[in-house]
Amino acid sequence: MAEIIEHPDVEFQGRTYYWRLKGTTWCYANSRRGESGEAVTHRLHRDVWESVHGPIPEGGVVHHIDTNPANNDPSNLELKTRSTHALVHSSEKVELTCSVCGKVFLKPKKNHDIDSAKGKPAVCCRECWFKSPGGIKSKEVAKQWNLAHREERAEYHKKWQAEHTEEMRRKRREYEEAHKDEREEYNKKLYAENREKRLADMKLYYSTHKEEIKAKEFARKDERAETKRLWHEAHRESERIRMREWRLANREKALEYDRKYNATRRPK
Ligand SMILES: [Zn+2]
Ligand SMILES: [Zn+2]
Repeated sequence: MAEIIEHPDVEFQGRTYYWRLKGTTWCYANSRRGESGEAVTHRLHRDVWESVHGPIPEGGVVHHIDTNPANNDPSNLELKTRSTHALVHSSEKVELTCSVCGKVFLKPKKNHDIDSAKGKPAVCCRECWFKSPGGIKSKEVAKQWNLAHREERAEYHKKWQAEHTEEMRRKRREYEEAHKDEREEYNKKLYAENREKRLADMKLYYSTHKEEIKAKEFARKDERAETKRLWHEAHRESERIRMREWRLANREKALEYDRKYNATRRPK
């Protein structure tokens, strides 16, 4: 278990913010009960951003540029939408130990300081989660939802693909171009590595399927011959005409050739 890093309390605009685990994200927060008993949470990074830029638009996320949620200097804060924010963090991975099966697994690092969230007891791997009652239920719920929204999803998917076709193609081309040598190298290596096995497989296949392969070969040959015969039958007249025309057109050339040939045949 990773240790939980402690940070001193911070005063900002007359409010004290404490270093807290909110969900799975560590940040400076101030929670209290509202008038009707509901929890009201102020998060320092959001309040600092608002103090400089004004109210955060709906759905806005304040991102710590250096990914350190303890650094709440205005220069370290950036407003993002939920999706662009997710993109920033999507490539980060963190190593966690499953509390159920003990397996070490990688999880996308969605939160700024999930390393400190390691102390949370309910960390388990995907496999274990899907075996748990909550996982089984969520799978069922997701299935039902997907079924109910099938057409909508297909429509959305189609639209998305149509809108992003060019972009995806370009990205793929760029990726392939950038990794060309790598890929070639890998393929070559794989090919060389599997050569013996491939040859052995081929030999084995040939020896066990000899009759079948021969029969197929003969069938292919027969088929080709038949196709050729049919073609000639269908084109007999036109071919005859074409040949006659060709001979007429090349008459001089043919005669010249004949003369030359005959000259070599009959030495004087
Ligand atoms: Zn962020
Ligand atoms: Zn597990």
